[in-house]
Amino acid sequence: MTDEHSAILARFLDNASHIAIIKDPLFRFIYTNKPFFDLLDMDRDSDITGKTDADILTGIASEKQLSEIASTDRKACTLAAGEHLSLEFELTIPCGKTVILKSYKFPIRDKSGSLLGIGVLTADISQLKSREQELIDTHHALTQEFKEQAEILRDANENLQFMRHVFKNTLDGIIITDKDGKALQINPAFTEITGYTLDEIRGENPRFLKSNYHNAEFYKEMWASLASKGFWEGELWNRRKSGEIYPQRLNISAIYDQKGNITHYVGVNNDISELKRKEEKIHFYSYHDALTNLPNRKLFSDRLRREIEKSAKTGVKIALLYMDLDDFKKVNDSLGYTVGDELLKQLAGRIKPMLGEQDSLARLGSDEFAVALVGYKKINNIISFAQKIGEQLSSPFHIEGHEIFINASIGIATYPEDTTSPEQLVLHADTAMHQVKSSYLDNFRFYTSQMKTQAQHKIDMESAIRKGIVNGEFVPFYQAKVSTSTGKVMGMEALARWVRPDGSIIPPSEFIPIAEELNLIHEVDTLIIRQAVKDMTVWEEAGYTDLVVSANVSAKELDTPAFAENIFAILEESHLPKEKLDLEITESLLMQDVEKNAGILDSLCSSGISCSIDDFGTGYSSLSYLKKLPISTLKIDRSFVNDIMTDKNDLAIVCAIISMAKHMGLKVVAEGVEDAEQVKLLKSQGCDLIQGFYYSKPLSKSEFLNFLNGRRDNIFLQE
Ligand code: C2E
Ligand code: CA
Ligand code: CA
Repeated sequence: MTDEHSAILARFLDNASHIAIIKDPLFRFIYTNKPFFDLLDMDRDSDITGKTDADILTGIASEKQLSEIASTDRKACTLAAGEHLSLEFELTIPCGKTVILKSYKFPIRDKSGSLLGIGVLTADISQLKSREQELIDTHHALTQEFKEQAEILRDANENLQFMRHVFKNTLDGIIITDKDGKALQINPAFTEITGYTLDEIRGENPRFLKSNYHNAEFYKEMWASLASKGFWEGELWNRRKSGEIYPQRLNISAIYDQKGNITHYVGVNNDISELKRKEEKIHFYSYHDALTNLPNRKLFSDRLRREIEKSAKTGVKIALLYMDLDDFKKVNDSLGYTVGDELLKQLAGRIKPMLGEQDSLARLGSDEFAVALVGYKKINNIISFAQKIGEQLSSPFHIEGHEIFINASIGIATYPEDTTSPEQLVLHADTAMHQVKSSYLDNFRFYTSQMKTQAQHKIDMESAIRKGIVNGEFVPFYQAKVSTSTGKVMGMEALARWVRPDGSIIPPSEFIPIAEELNLIHEVDTLIIRQAVKDMTVWEEAGYTDLVVSANVSAKELDTPAFAENIFAILEESHLPKEKLDLEITESLLMQDVEKNAGILDSLCSSGISCSIDDFGTGYSSLSYLKKLPISTLKIDRSFVNDIMTDKNDLAIVCAIISMAKHMGLKVVAEGVEDAEQVKLLKSQGCDLIQGFYYSKPLSKSEFLNFLNGRRDNIFLQE
């Protein structure tokens, strides 16, 4: 190598990026290039020849580094040609920077193989190293990120699978719509519930499900809630494809994008028809009786309370009828519970149609029912309702081949007269019902507050009269008719008396009007006439053979077609000659339809029975009519007779009647004669017969016989 070449080589090495060092076999520096001086911030001209690393790097490299440099130098000496070793170390260089250096060391030998020294090539690999670290860090970060993403993806995938499964298999119907409410997706349950498939409704607004059960306000609130809270939940009625309306529980949620705009709506609904049905059933039976399906006590009380509250404003009247079957236990005991149950059902079925729209019927207990009559007008309406129940029960029930008769006791209380409390109303009616049970008289009874006494009395009388007829409690008392000319008892009037089971005697004024109203007068009169006719035979046997008995006949009776036949039959039974019976008919009633009554009387009189006009003078008879009637006697009304001694008008009337009767060939009876002066006066005027307390009050059969016997001796006595 020429010097020129050596110089080029030196320049080349000085410009290289690596540090090049040559050391002698004792590791003393022979050569180093410029980068070495630059690294250690040394003067280029410093003489380093013969110096060791320890000399140069004192204060820069640590003891440990220096010994490492030395040991690798030694090792490099042992390497074969072409081999090298490397060493990496960190060094804080005089400028304060820490650099990472990598040195390659190899031996330098001559041709014979003798060691000339070692060569060291050192590079600053700091940058490389930090890039490498960066790469490693990036790699790690990426790996981590990848791992995480993979996990998320896996989870998401699993979730998605899961959600898909839920979406497909849930029993809730799900519909997903876009932000405008147009259907995008539905699940099978939605189809199951509504009947619609996705193909049929894709792009449609679910309002096709609307039932018209809810008003616009309802849907307005729904959308308002969705807009403000993004959520709505509630129950609503929708329409299936089949047209059927069904209840459902629905919740709708809005779905938002990252900017907070609504992108979708999800509606989840479940069909609660079955639930509703069960709920309704439970609800129904907690307020109804399972046997008859009638409201139970609870519902009845609620309704009653509501009606009473309402009527506090409207003034509507309410009657409560508490009804208890008589001897229902016997039906159960003898025929079994199934028959008993059926009886209750049929009974409810008979009463229900009697109710008005406002009224209600309930089963309160085993055989206890209650009716609330709302808005009745008069007490009579309640009475006729209670009577109708009686009529409904009068025909037997036919159950499983049995014919069952059943009665009910009904207690009645009214609002607001008896009480304003619904509980009290029921209690009062119950009390009244128990009175019915213990009285054995009537079928129904009012709770007796002061106001009800009269109505109650009438009801009591009605049922008592019916029972009295059956038991023959109506009997005749007799009041004598005495001849003015002979003083002889010519006959007697049979006057009805009601002898109650307790022995009390009730006068006709208290029961005849009611019996007439109830159309029972015929039965009463028949009892009296039959008994009177029978008693006649007793007196005849006692020797009183020419008496005529008078019986009172209500004009109402004359109307009945079989009236005459009935009288004939009674006479026939006892073989009493028809001439021995006289019928008294009041003037006022007779005059109501003279033509017709004349016909009826004709048939009686032509048979021999005689007829008298009772209470004559009070009925404004026209005399021409009087002539048409086949009558034999006029009975002057008591009111005229009473005052003949003091009232000139009455006297004049009585005298006129007597004289008129004489001219017409009629007999005259004066009734209500109480003293001898009256007898005298009447006799002087030509009155034929006297009836009154002066001779006798109406007497019982045995008393009357005594009376007759007592007068036997006086018969020819002049009064
Ligand atoms: P009437 O047919 O005018 O009977 C006469 C009434 O006068 C009887 O009242 C009798 O007791 C009463 N009387 C008789 N003498 C005197 C007297 O001297 N002084 C007074 N103050 N009163 C006297 P009674 O028995 O209470 O009967 C009342 C009415 O009831 C009868 O009036 C009659 O219309 C009706 N009645 C009585 N029994 C029957 C009957 O069996 N059937 C029908 N349909 N009506 C009857
Ligand atoms: Ca009479
Ligand atoms: Ca009379």
